[in-house]
Amino acid sequence: MNKAIFMDRDGTIIEEKGYICHFFESCLFPFTAEAIRRMKRNGYLAIVITNQSSIGRGICSKEQVEQLHEDLKKELKNNDARVDGIYYSPFHDDAIIEEFRHKNHWLRKPSPGMLKLAASEWDIDLSRSFMIGDDTTDIQAGLNAGCRTALVLTGKGNETRLKLKEMGLTPDITAENIYSAILQIEELTR
Ligand SMILES: [Mg+2]
Repeated sequence: MNKAIFMDRDGTIIEEKGYICHFFESCLFPFTAEAIRRMKRNGYLAIVITNQSSIGRGICSKEQVEQLHEDLKKELKNNDARVDGIYYSPFHDDAIIEEFRHKNHWLRKPSPGMLKLAASEWDIDLSRSFMIGDDTTDIQAGLNAGCRTALVLTGKGNETRLKLKEMGLTPDITAENIYSAILQIEELTR
């Protein structure tokens, strides 16, 4: 079976900028490509897991989000950092587009659905895998899937750190950013 590192998108591999529909609006963190190269060298699949309620809210189309993801993958690949898959969730409780209006959809973090779907498609052992993100929902989704978890302090990370404490949830790793999270994962799994 494979092992994977699941990564949140906004605030984790690119800057948190609210709703964006195009790659040119995004800002890739300078350490993301090296983090992905490093996880691949360690034998992990690199999979992005992202809530994109912008689709359900009618802000971006599905096509725009998929194009953004193609462009993001291409940019990373040009830097020798190959992303194996990007899973996104268009659903939201308050979506204005009816087909995406669902309360607590199983494919929306904090539910573990996207991780479980990826696990079945890629034959992934979730117990040997990690979920990295900057939001409480990332850590919850990772825990709900039976993965180990890493909180990054980029994006919403600092406020999330306090929220997790209040919720009584402790990520396995807390790191400055995704690159230092990978270094800590190497330490932890040595
Ligand atoms: Mg995020």
